[in-house]
Amino acid sequence: MKYDVAIVGAGSAGSALAARLSEDPDRSVLLLEAGPDYPDFNHLPDELKYGYAAAPAPPSSRTAAGHPVALSSSPHNWQFMATSTDLAPPMLVPRGKVTGGSSAINSSAFYRGVPEDFDAWASRGNDQWNYEKVLPYFRKVETDVDQDGDFHGSDGPIFVHHSNPDAWDAAQQAFFDACRASGFAETPDHNHPDSGGVGPGVTNNHNRVRFSTALGYLDPARHRLNLTVRPNCQALRIVFQGKRATGLLVESGGQTFTVEAEQIVLSAGAVGSPHLLMLSGVGPAGQLAALGIPVVQDTPGVGRNLKDHPKVYVTWEVGDGFDAPANRGAGSAVLRLTAPGSHLRNDLGINLGALVVPRVRGTVQTDDTRREGENSDTRYVEMMIGLLLPESQGELTLTSSDHRVQPAMHYNYLAEPFDRKRLRAGIRLALDLSERPELASLLGKRVDPEDEDLASDDALDRWLLSEATTYSHISCTCRMGPSDDPLAVVDQYGKVHGMEGLSIVDASIMPDLVRAPINPAVIMIAERMADFIRAGR
Ligand SMILES: Cc1cc2nc3c(=O)[nH]c(=O)nc-3n(C[C@H](O)[C@H](O)[C@H](O)COP(=O)(O)OP(=O)(O)OC[C@H]3O[C@@H](n4cnc5c(N)ncnc54)[C@H](O)[C@@H]3O)c2cc1C
Repeated sequence: MKYDVAIVGAGSAGSALAARLSEDPDRSVLLLEAGPDYPDFNHLPDELKYGYAAAPAPPSSRTAAGHPVALSSSPHNWQFMATSTDLAPPMLVPRGKVTGGSSAINSSAFYRGVPEDFDAWASRGNDQWNYEKVLPYFRKVETDVDQDGDFHGSDGPIFVHHSNPDAWDAAQQAFFDACRASGFAETPDHNHPDSGGVGPGVTNNHNRVRFSTALGYLDPARHRLNLTVRPNCQALRIVFQGKRATGLLVESGGQTFTVEAEQIVLSAGAVGSPHLLMLSGVGPAGQLAALGIPVVQDTPGVGRNLKDHPKVYVTWEVGDGFDAPANRGAGSAVLRLTAPGSHLRNDLGINLGALVVPRVRGTVQTDDTRREGENSDTRYVEMMIGLLLPESQGELTLTSSDHRVQPAMHYNYLAEPFDRKRLRAGIRLALDLSERPELASLLGKRVDPEDEDLASDDALDRWLLSEATTYSHISCTCRMGPSDDPLAVVDQYGKVHGMEGLSIVDASIMPDLVRAPINPAVIMIAERMADFIRAGR
């Protein structure tokens, strides 16, 4: 059992990397995945097949009461828990546990971020990652069905669609019209580098199927004899000889095996990769020693710099003119804007959401409870406001040497005053939009935030800190950077500083967030790293 490359985790990055590296028939690639695998599309469970955010769930994936199956009760979700702020209740952190990883359970929004995001990565000592250098890899990821030209791909594994304004329901059209009447520019293409303003939502939901990396990358590569995909196999530890990683200790079917490889790549995600590193003795030495874990290398940055986009919802009762259910699935209009006074372009995102039951204050935060309400008698309309380039950082820490115990995660949302200021501005913009005549018949009485929450900046801050929840874009927990960056875990080629034969390729190595949901950026990272590995970097 010795491979050229062993990859831990078949998620967005791991599936793409395994597919690209196994294009060379002389390279043997092992892809280990803790969750199950569905090689035959016909046996792919409906909850994975259909992106509920973009299309109505088919009847077979609904409970007897007609509610879509909640992801948090799914075997394809790690269901981690975390804290978001000191004021908010505990928060559920969904993460995919299946081939395709989180790309198999996500909401299929497909946005790249802005060129400045990648230029900022480069300016932190990662000169291989500026916009000019990553653009060809973004193009390589996709087949954009609706847009072409210099900025789009036409033969990549992931199908991308821009919603068709002619098919928008009345609510989306009204949201678009309200944005335009408020002075926001119209953009036909949110993935154009200069774009901003309001325009069609972008998705990798293809003919109602959530096009995960398992479908796009892994399935066409499965016939290769040099690619071995092993589901239901959890890596427990990295095996080291001195500072060289030589293999993995893996649990499969209740037994433990050791597999060897010339190169070990962690693609276990922004939770799984730092967790596995620390369990294996690479991390903050004090934290590891306190848990009795022998320290292989003191790497203080493991688990630090945790980043995610916080989001909040403004909620209204349904107005008489709201008829969204009839056309749900026809796509949406999305507004990207720069917060007033911010120097960061497009650092806020706003869209009008589906019908929901508002979250009950003080309960565990989960998107599932929102979804559960879609068919209930009490319906609401929401605007989701996301802060797309937060400065606040959280932390992931090890609490046990037992691999079954999840690490602790504190997201520390909105700790920085600049973040609170921008999100406050986002709320006030959403409220301004809601008062425009275009939306008047759709929105009833405002439910949340209440008037008293809006009475002052301090009151609104308290509301934000108790409501902010995850956009599900956890990242940066093993950040990329040069060796003189004390908190960098990997270099810009993904290699763990100070170690040999050990790399990380997934969302954890992002030096910072991008101003967009991050799945396209993560797949782009895998594409670029595959080229580096092939080139022997
Ligand atoms: C509910 C949800 C909605 C989202 N919506 C969007 C969206 O609309 N648009 C967008 O761009 N992004 C979205 N995201 C974020 C995006 O999907 C993720 O950031 C991205 O998929 C992360 O990719 P990754 O490769 O880093 O990790 P993952 O895709 O999470 O892959 C990690 C894989 O490693 C496996 N693994 C972990 N530990 C081990 C181990 N020890 N041994 C073996 N295997 C292991 C896991 O089971 C998993 O399959 C969403 C995420 C979630 C969860």
